[in-house]
Amino acid sequence: MPKPLHSGFLSNSNINVNIVNAKRVSLLDMQQAYSFMLLQEVLIHKEITMNNSIKLSGRLENVASLIPKGAEFADIGSDHGYLPCYVCLHDESAQAVAGEVNEGPFLSAQETVKRYGLAKRIDVRLGNGLEILKDGEVNLVVLAGMGGALISTILDEGKDRLKSIKRIIAQPNVGERRVRQWFYTHGYTITNEAMIKENGHIYEIIAGDKNPTTQEMTEKQLLFGPRLLKQKPELFYQKWENEYAKRQRIIDQMKKAALPNDNKIEAFKKELTWIEEVLRDDSH
Ligand code: SAM
Repeated sequence: MPKPLHSGFLSNSNINVNIVNAKRVSLLDMQQAYSFMLLQEVLIHKEITMNNSIKLSGRLENVASLIPKGAEFADIGSDHGYLPCYVCLHDESAQAVAGEVNEGPFLSAQETVKRYGLAKRIDVRLGNGLEILKDGEVNLVVLAGMGGALISTILDEGKDRLKSIKRIIAQPNVGERRVRQWFYTHGYTITNEAMIKENGHIYEIIAGDKNPTTQEMTEKQLLFGPRLLKQKPELFYQKWENEYAKRQRIIDQMKKAALPNDNKIEAFKKELTWIEEVLRDDSH
């Protein structure tokens, strides 16, 4: 009599193992192996559904909160792929493309997607910026955790892939002004801005929605953010007090140079005045 495969799992099965014919035995083994595979799949699925949450950083959680339900979105520079997995686990109707230019993070994103059983809803692709996108397949793009200059370059180089993109969510680590400038020169109105502090760094999250009548932004709005300037959350004061001190130090250093760059010094001084105005401009 053949031994039941993995009897611990199959002890309640009704499979008749009382077979002597070798051909039938192997068939039975196959049946049992198949039952075991199904059982494993059920257990794996249970594990995932019991444990189907990813703990995102506050920064990425904030980005995720700006992705509407049912979005078909691309996460460019996805790295580990946590953001698209998190969104798809919380919203059954969401679908995503995770883009990565580097092979290590690309494989890591593939692994995360597989681990959470999301391969049917998240396509992980290797390639530069927006070139991995097919025309019209997504309506929202996320670019998070990069510098503002890289974000603007990726958007610039992939302009022809943006026809269907209604919203862009950018989270530049630095160089927010470049991103805002790109938004308004390419017809995206800033509809949401947030600040979050993590590991001692204050991050800005900027969402722009396509709008053919986008208004030009003033220099001050580009620097501080049009919505942040109105809302002035607590972190706004922290950030701009630090930036004020930073600019003062830079000016002092520049003045000590053998050939001081007067234009640059003037530009920084102008920003110092703006920061003073903005920080003084209410009863905080
Ligand atoms: N988006 C994730 C986050 O916010 O935590 C990961 C940020 S990680 C610091 C930046 C990622 O962008 C890296 O994994 C890098 O390989 C990827 N990257 C850089 N340039 C890229 C490009 N041109 N196209 C696609 N991915 C890029």
